[in-house]
Amino acid sequence: MGRTDGSLALKNVVKRFGGTQVIYDVSFDVADGEFVVFVGPSGCGKSTLLRMICGLESVSDGEICIGGDRVNEVSAARRGLALVFQSYALYPHMTVYQNMAFGLENLGMPRAEIEKRVAEAARMLRLGDYLQRKPTALSGGQRQRVAIGRAIVREPRIFLFDEPLSNLDAELRVGMRAELADLHRRLGTTMIYVTHDQVEAMTMADKIVVLRAGRVEQVGAPLELYNHPQNRFVAGFIGSPQ
Ligand code: ADP
Ligand code: MG
Repeated sequence: MGRTDGSLALKNVVKRFGGTQVIYDVSFDVADGEFVVFVGPSGCGKSTLLRMICGLESVSDGEICIGGDRVNEVSAARRGLALVFQSYALYPHMTVYQNMAFGLENLGMPRAEIEKRVAEAARMLRLGDYLQRKPTALSGGQRQRVAIGRAIVREPRIFLFDEPLSNLDAELRVGMRAELADLHRRLGTTMIYVTHDQVEAMTMADKIVVLRAGRVEQVGAPLELYNHPQNRFVAGFIGSPQ
């Protein structure tokens, strides 16, 4: 389908750091437009998988396909994805507008197009009144929205979120979950969302990929995993009474 196809396939993906294997033979498919959540305990390989998908980390073995095309050898910049992570390093000396526009300016995009994209993202994220502020003059939730805005303006074919809400307090996290779900409904773009929070996984996902120690334990819709966990680990993680 070309550039706008945000489908993803991992085929027998392996990752080794030096002599240490951290990802073992991981395979799963994501349809264009799906909201997929990776869950699993700390250290199980969630971030490593995301970094391989977006091209920040090489694949030791196996294949990653985006939009039907193998991308193992394609640079991060050319994969057309956007990663939002927990330590949302905004540029403190730049305004909200400049933070969102910066990446597009680097691509040499015409100014009018940049202004249009930033205005649209700001409207979507209710940041319209804050465009001339510096990040230090924003709340935690607003800063996180700027980080999401920086991803939106790039119009990626897949959004990758690496525990984006883990720095926020519980109340804010609930609000941001709803905002992300709403954003997904409006954009229809594929989203891969990493969390170690079962509630986030159960409430946000079309499909959950449960990981343990570098391996996929089970892939399925939230209720499928809840009602038919393949083993005790999945049952324990998803919270069903098996
Ligand atoms: P998670 O995001 O699920 O907490 P990570 O993907 O960060 O897990 O890490 C998975 C495993 O890979 C861990 O054992 C971690 O120590 C190891 N790891 C991650 N990055 C590197 C690296 N650059 N070099 C060596 N080991 C790494
Ligand atoms: Mg991680």
